[in-house]
Amino acid sequence: MGAFRRVLALLSSYGYSFSALDSVDFRSATNNRSRFHFEYVDEGGVLGHESIILMTQAKILDDHFHDHCGVFGVFGHPEAANLAYLGLYALQHRGQESAGIVSSDGTELHLHRAMGEVEEIFQPRILTQLPGSLAIGHTRYSTAGDKALLNAQPIAIDCNKGKLALGHNGNLTNAGEHRRRLEHKGSIFQTNSDTEVIVHLLARSQARNLSGALGDALNQVEGAYSLLVLTTDELYAVRDPRGFRPLVLGKLTTPGGFTAWLVASETCAFDLLNAQYVREIEPGEMVRISKSGIESIHFAPPKPHQQCIFEHVYFSRPDSIIFGRSVNQSREMLGRLLAREHPVEADIVVPVPDSGVPAAVGYALESKIPFRMGLIRNHYIGRTFIEPSQAIRNFGVKLKLNPVRSLIEGQRIVLVDDSIVRGTTSRKIVRMVRDAGATEVHVRISCPPTISPCYYGVDTPTREELIASSNSPDDICKFLGADSLGYLSLPSLKQAVADTEGRFCTSCYTGVYPTDLVQLEVRESASNGKSAGPSVTIESEPAPAERPVVVHREG
Ligand code: SF4
Repeated sequence: MGAFRRVLALLSSYGYSFSALDSVDFRSATNNRSRFHFEYVDEGGVLGHESIILMTQAKILDDHFHDHCGVFGVFGHPEAANLAYLGLYALQHRGQESAGIVSSDGTELHLHRAMGEVEEIFQPRILTQLPGSLAIGHTRYSTAGDKALLNAQPIAIDCNKGKLALGHNGNLTNAGEHRRRLEHKGSIFQTNSDTEVIVHLLARSQARNLSGALGDALNQVEGAYSLLVLTTDELYAVRDPRGFRPLVLGKLTTPGGFTAWLVASETCAFDLLNAQYVREIEPGEMVRISKSGIESIHFAPPKPHQQCIFEHVYFSRPDSIIFGRSVNQSREMLGRLLAREHPVEADIVVPVPDSGVPAAVGYALESKIPFRMGLIRNHYIGRTFIEPSQAIRNFGVKLKLNPVRSLIEGQRIVLVDDSIVRGTTSRKIVRMVRDAGATEVHVRISCPPTISPCYYGVDTPTREELIASSNSPDDICKFLGADSLGYLSLPSLKQAVADTEGRFCTSCYTGVYPTDLVQLEVRESASNGKSAGPSVTIESEPAPAERPVVVHREG
C-alpha cells in the first residue's frame, strides 16, 4: 500500500485522476520507471489488474540535462507582481514543475506558489492578491529535494532578521552536512530543499544587518547559487564566487518616470518587458537595491570563475546574453567548429528542434550543405500522456517530433543535436529519420561526450545512465544506428564561447570538479562502487561571524 500511495501521489501531481477506481482497495502497486502496475481488490477478492504507461512531458520531450530554476526580481515598479509573472513566463524553459511570486507592499510580504507552469498558476485574480512595488519570482525544476509544493520557491519566512523571501537557482554541495549540524543544534526544517540551509544559517548569524548576515550564511555554503532575497523594502541579488549560474541586472522606466530595477536569470526576460540590460551580477557580488539606490558588496574572497558552459550549449535561450556573450553567437560557432572537425558528404543539414537549430545553422553555413527543417516539433503537447495499448512505433518521440518525409526521403542527412545523455531518445530520432526514407544519417553533437553528472544545479542522471561514461563514440554510434557520429572537442567548445581564460565549468565533460567536497564525494563513490550523489560527509570549516566586505556604490 505504501508503494501505491507513492505512485498515486506522483500520478496526481501530474494531474492524473483515479476517480473511477476510488471505491476499491489497491493490493499492490509497483513503479517500473513510468510503467505502473496495479492489482486491486474488494471483499470478493481480486477485481483486476491495471498496467498504465504514463509518460511525463520531461521524459517525452528530450533526453537532456535540465536546468534547476529561473529567478526574476523587481524593485520600484507599481506593477511588480505582474512584471515578475511576465519575467517568469520568459524564463519558463528553466523550470516547469512549480512557480511562485512573493511581493512586498512595504509592510507585508504576499506569497503565492503552486505546482505547474507560470501561465496556469498566475491567473489575473491571483496577481491582484500580490500588491506592492517589490517582488521576486521563481520557477523550478527540482534537483535538490523532491518536487512537492512544499519545496516550491520562493521560500518566505519571518525570522529575527525580519520578513524575508528567497529564490535560489543552483545547488549547494555541502547542504546535507549543514543540515545535519543545524538539526543537531535544534533547527527545525520545513522543507528538504538545500535552499532552506541558507535561511537557517542567516537566522543564526550575529551580524548587525541583513547584508552581513547573508554574507555570513553564504560564506559557509559551497556550490552554486544565484540568489534573490526580498525584504519588505529591499531586494538583494547574489551570485556565488565561482559564478556557476547566470544572473543579470536590468532597468525599466516606470509610468511615473522613475527607474525600476530588475534582476533575472537571463536577459530574454528583460526583452519581453522592453527593459534595458545593464550588466551581469558578478561572481561573488551581492547587489543590494533599496530606496537609496544600488550598492555592490563583494561578500566573499574571490575564487576562480566556473561559469556553466552548458548554459551556452543548451540551457539558456538563444536570444539571451549569458556571461556577457550572445548564446546564439556561441551556438552558431559550435556548429561551425563541429563542421570543421567532423565534415561529411551529405545532402541536407537537419536540426533536432528546437535546441539543435542554431548549431545546425552554423554547421550548414560552414559546410555549405543546405539547412532544412526536416523535423517538426509539436509545441502544444500536454503534461502527461497515456500510451494506447496497441504500441505505436516511436510513440513517445513522435509526440514531440515528426519528420518531413518530402525533405528527408532519399537524402543523406547530417542530424545536428546539442547533446546525448542516455542515448535512448537520439536512437529513436535516428530510427524515425531512417523510417522517413533517409539513405544515410550522420549524427553531429555540438559538445563533447557528457561523461559525468552535475552537482551545481542541474538535473542529471547518474554516471551509469550517461551513455558516454562507459561507451566509446564508436559504440554509441552503433547504439544509435547512425552511419557516423561526431562530437565537438572540448577545445572547440571553449573556443566557441570565447573562453580564453578558463572561466567556464566543464565538469560534466571531464569528470573533474572545481569544488573540493564534490571531488571527495566522487572519489569515495568510485571506490565503493556506488553512483555519486550530491550529499557529502566532510566537515566544512565554519566561517567567522563577521567577514570583511568591499562595498562599491554605483551612481
Ligand atoms: Fe554546467 Fe556541466 Fe558544470 Fe554542471 S557540471 S555547472 S552542467 S558545465
